[in-house]
Amino acid sequence: MHRFDQVYIGGEFRTAHGREELGLVNPATEEPLGVLVMADEDDARQAVDSARIAFKGWSRSCRKERIELLYNLSEAVRARSDALTEATVLEYGGPIEQARWRAGLAANNFLAAARLLEDFAFSRRINDTEVVAQAAGVALHIVPWNSVYNAISVKMAGALAAGCSVIVKPSEYSAWQTQLFTECLHAAGAPAGVINVVTGRGEVVGEALTSDPAIRKISFTGSTRVGKAIMAKAATHMTRLTLELGGKAPTIVMEDADLEKAASIALAAGFTNNGQACIAGTRILVKRSQMDAFCKALKTAVGTIVQGDPRDPRTTLGPLVNRQQYRRVQGYIRIGVEEGARLITGGEGRPDNMPRGYFAKPTVFADVTNTMTVAREEIFGPVLCVIAYDDEDHAVEIANDTEFGLHAYVLGEDVERARALAGRIDAGRVAINGVMHEPLAPFGGFKESGIGREYGVYGIEDHLELKAVMNPHGGS
Ligand code: NAD
Repeated sequence: MHRFDQVYIGGEFRTAHGREELGLVNPATEEPLGVLVMADEDDARQAVDSARIAFKGWSRSCRKERIELLYNLSEAVRARSDALTEATVLEYGGPIEQARWRAGLAANNFLAAARLLEDFAFSRRINDTEVVAQAAGVALHIVPWNSVYNAISVKMAGALAAGCSVIVKPSEYSAWQTQLFTECLHAAGAPAGVINVVTGRGEVVGEALTSDPAIRKISFTGSTRVGKAIMAKAATHMTRLTLELGGKAPTIVMEDADLEKAASIALAAGFTNNGQACIAGTRILVKRSQMDAFCKALKTAVGTIVQGDPRDPRTTLGPLVNRQQYRRVQGYIRIGVEEGARLITGGEGRPDNMPRGYFAKPTVFADVTNTMTVAREEIFGPVLCVIAYDDEDHAVEIANDTEFGLHAYVLGEDVERARALAGRIDAGRVAINGVMHEPLAPFGGFKESGIGREYGVYGIEDHLELKAVMNPHGGS
């Protein structure tokens, strides 16, 4: 049994001041994995002090120093990729190949920032005025449990490149992954206090941090509900804010799409990361006249899913992260049935012959209308809704009829037509004919999916304040 009772403050691991414990469970077996001793308000205060002092030096560090640290971080994460992958498999239930890919994303995020920093312009002239971009201040990064290394690294890479010191508040449900990742961060050798990590409850350590006036930038990834609460808190001190929140992505299957190919992409988009993904394509929009043929193809595709031990490379769909998440997903499946959606596969309960683990049945509802709860709320599990549209205008109307706007998918043979359709969708990213990721392109949401953009230069700019230094006569 592992005991995670360390916070990382001032360049060293320290025993957390907090005393509250949380049992960690392997979601695939329901066996205990370890215990997290959660950080408290006192740990938060220490982390802020440490980051505040370190900011003075790091914000003045030269480009070369920052680039060197980012390369070191990338190397340190890559060096422990096997251990990081194992922790994601055991603690999160991520299928091993997907978990390995995600660990790789983190190393790449640091590498990408190092390369971008080589010629990033921190100042430019407008007539006689010099516009200077300076580090925003101590940055607080609050992240969820569903893509731990990627969420921490993408925010941290941008912040360190900009010259901010960082406090990370990871989810209490990812203590093992956090511990290992923090060991990598430590190995990279940042100056003391530039990186700090305090794991604990959002309502305790998270609240203490978001209330602290010394924090000048909050970048939060998580639910829209908590994002709104943090936004209200941030108003107190006008703390700069980036919010990466929930999604209910539409996958539009165009009339000219190859239905079998489309079904397989729609499934990959919907069930990525065990269905626990903000970018999951969970509303599949299909031309009414093609509904039966598409549902048949989708059902066949679902039949190829392999559920089971996430350590087995053949497994394609792992368990949900914990009992609470399992119950939440079951509740939504029940509501879908009660509201009249037609189950074409899956349903409530565990998959056959799987008596243990938080495995949900891969579930697809047809005859869904866009007003049903299952079409409106983020379920965060392997549950898809198929919705009929009459023509392209109607498809766009349904796609945009949501409070979210993080991601969308368009599938069709005529790529120009698909591109034109993508232009009409209100979402921060639209993927055409695949599930892809471009780490240099902006990532973020329209509407209640968030505010601001991450990745690439956008992640660096996100941690900068602009200052215009005016000298109209050009001399002293
Ligand atoms: P969550 O909102 O419950 O928690 C996210 C983080 O916020 C955790 O670290 C939690 O401890 C902390 N937190 C909770 N209450 C807080 C408070 N009052 N003050 C400060 N911090 C607080 O989300 P979750 O259940 O961990 O993750 C799932 C959610 O994350 C989904 O809604 C998903 O869509 C979203 N998500 C979004 C993105 C994106 O980039 N848009 C990426 C991944 C996940």
